[in-house]
Amino acid sequence: MVIDPRPQRLDTAREYLQFVTDAAAIAIAHCSAERRFVFVNKAYAERFGLTPDQIAGRSVAEVLGKGAYESIRPYIDRVLAGEPLQYEIDIEYSGIGRRYMHCAYTPEVDAQGRLVGWVAVVTDMTDRRELEQELAERETMLRLAQRAGGVGTFDWDLVTQVARCSSVYFEILGVDSGDGTMTTEEWQAYAHPEDRERVIKHLIGILEDSGAGGADYRVVRPDGEVRWVHYAGQVLRDRTGKPARMIGTVLDITDRKQAEESLREADRRKDEFLATLAHELRNPLAPIRNAAQILQLKGPPDPTLQWARDIIERQAQQLSRLVDDLLDVSRVNRGKVELRKERVELSAIVERALETSRPVLEDAGHRLTVTFPEEPLWLIADTTRMAQALSNLLNNAAKYTEAGGHIRLSSGRDGDRAVVEVRDDGIGIPSEMLSRIFEMFAQVDTSLERAQGGLGIGLTIARSLVEMHGGAIEAASDGSGKGSVFRIRLPLAPERDAADEVQAQEGERMPRASLRILVVDDNEDSAESLAMWLRLQGNHVRTAHDGPQALDVAQEHRPELIFLDIGMPGMNGYEVARRLRGQPETRDAMLVAMTGWGQEEDRRQSKEAGFDQHLVKPLEPKALASLLDCLAPRRE
Ligand code: ADP
Repeated sequence: MVIDPRPQRLDTAREYLQFVTDAAAIAIAHCSAERRFVFVNKAYAERFGLTPDQIAGRSVAEVLGKGAYESIRPYIDRVLAGEPLQYEIDIEYSGIGRRYMHCAYTPEVDAQGRLVGWVAVVTDMTDRRELEQELAERETMLRLAQRAGGVGTFDWDLVTQVARCSSVYFEILGVDSGDGTMTTEEWQAYAHPEDRERVIKHLIGILEDSGAGGADYRVVRPDGEVRWVHYAGQVLRDRTGKPARMIGTVLDITDRKQAEESLREADRRKDEFLATLAHELRNPLAPIRNAAQILQLKGPPDPTLQWARDIIERQAQQLSRLVDDLLDVSRVNRGKVELRKERVELSAIVERALETSRPVLEDAGHRLTVTFPEEPLWLIADTTRMAQALSNLLNNAAKYTEAGGHIRLSSGRDGDRAVVEVRDDGIGIPSEMLSRIFEMFAQVDTSLERAQGGLGIGLTIARSLVEMHGGAIEAASDGSGKGSVFRIRLPLAPERDAADEVQAQEGERMPRASLRILVVDDNEDSAESLAMWLRLQGNHVRTAHDGPQALDVAQEHRPELIFLDIGMPGMNGYEVARRLRGQPETRDAMLVAMTGWGQEEDRRQSKEAGFDQHLVKPLEPKALASLLDCLAPRRE
C-alpha cells in the first residue's frame, strides 16, 4: 500500500483540514449549535482582518457584529432546525461595509441524530453583482437609445441562417416578434423585390471582402406598406477566420427618403417654373424689342422721343438678358443645354465676349486692358456659350468695381490648357464666400439696398458652361476691397493642319435683293413688329394670325420665306407647315419655325413637319439678317 506522506506531516486532522481549506478562495466556517465558531478557513477569517485561530471559539454574533448577525439569524435558525439552504443577501458588516454574499448552509447531525452545528460556505458576490448591475444598466440604456432612435438590431448566425432580432426590428417590419428570430428566407421575403438582389449582393460583398458595411433598401410590410431602411453590418469570424455571424443594425429611414424626394421634387418644380416663367416673359419682350428696333430704324426726330426710345431699347435688352439667364440656369439644371461645338480660336471667343461687355465696362468708366495669347490657341467649343461665360465674368468685374476701376482681361496658355483671366480692382470677395459664389442664387451682399441688381445666377451659368467644355473655373480674392480674379481653364483642341485655320474673310456688306415674306403668328404684336422690321429691310411682307388665314394668304402672296409660329390655337404651326408643303405655291418656300422652345426634341419635330429652320423667340436681328443673306444674294 502506498501511503501518501503529506498528511502525516501535519499533526492532527484539524491541521490537515486547515491546510486544505486555506487553499480555497471561498470562505468556509463550521459553527456549533451554540452559534460559536468551531473552525474557519483563512479566507473566512481574513474578511474580518483576523486569523482562523483568533476566530475559533468565539460567538458568531460577536465576530459578525450585531447588525450583520441579526440579518442572517433567520437562516441560522432554519439550518439549526435541520434544513440545508442557500441564499443571497446584502449584509452590512461593521467596519467592512455593505457586501453581497452567497451562503450555502449544511446542517451537522451527530450519531444520535441531534443537530450539533452547521457548515457555512460563503462567497462574496459584490464585485460580480456590481458588474452585472452596470451591464444591465448599460443594456437598458442601449435599448432605450435604440427604441428612441428607431434602431433595430440583429445577430445573424451564418451557419444556421437564423438571426436573432430586437423587437424594434420587428416593429420596423410591422410584424410580431414571435420568438425573436428570423430566418434568412423570411428576411428575403420582406426585402422589396426590386431591391432584394442588390442587397443580397451587397451582403455577399461584406461577407467575402470588406467585413463591414451598409446599404439602403426597401422592405415591404405584410400590410403592403413600403418602408426604407438602412442596414449596417459587421462580420464576426470563428477561430479559423471563417465568417460565423453578422451583427448589425437596421434603421427606418423612410422619413428621410421622403424628405429627400420632396426636396428633389420641389427643386424640379422650381426649375420647371423658372423655365415656364422665362418662356412666358420672353413672349411680350419680343414685340417690345421689335418695336424698339423699328423706332430705331425710323428714328423719331423729336429728341424726347429718341430718349424714350433708347430707354425702351436699353431696358428691354436688360430684361431680355435677365430672362435669358433665368432660362439658361433652368436649362443647365435640367441638363438641357445643347452645345454647338466647333473648332474656334480662343481670341475669337474673347473678342465676342468683349463685344457684349464693352458697353457695360465703358458705361462704368472702367479702364480695360486686354492681353491676347502670343500664339493662336484652338479650342473645341461653342463660341456663343463660351463668350457668354466670359462675358458674365466681365460684367461682374464691371458691376463689382467702383466707377473708374481697372479691369484686366488676359488669355494665354498653361501647358495643355488655355487660360483666360478676368482681374479687377473692385470690392473683392470675402474668403468665406469664395467657394459659395458659384452656387445658384449665391450673392455676397443680399441686402435689398445693394447697389447691383442681378439674380445671383451668372456665375452658376458660367461654371456650368465651362464644365460642359471640360474646363474649370475658379475665383480668388485677397478679401474685401482687394479686387477679385476669375480664371477659366479650357482644354486645347488637338493639333491640326495650319492650312485649315485660314478663315474666310467676311465680304463687304451690300444691300440685299428683296424677298416675298409671310409672317404667321397669333400674337398680332409679334407678327406686326417682325413684319415691320422685315419691311424696313426692303422686303414685301404679309402677315396672318392663324393657320387657315396663313394658307389663304400664302396662295395669293407666294412667299419665298415664311416665318411660322408653332403654338397657335386651332391649327398649330406643324399642321400649317405640312399643308404649306402640300400647296404648289409654297412647296419650295423656306419655312422657319418660331417658338419659345429650342430643345433637340422641338427641333426634331419641326424638321419632321417640313421646316427648314428653327428659331427661338425672341428672334435675334443677327440671326434674321444671316437668314436673309442666305436667301437673297447681296446686290453689287
Ligand atoms: P449676380 O451678379 O447676379 O449677383 P453672379 O452669379 O454673377 O450673380 O455672382 C454672384 C455673386 O458673386 C455676386 O452677387 C457678388 O457678390 C459676387 N461676385 C461676382 N463677381 C464678383 C467680382 N468680380 N467682384 C466681387 N464680387 C463678385
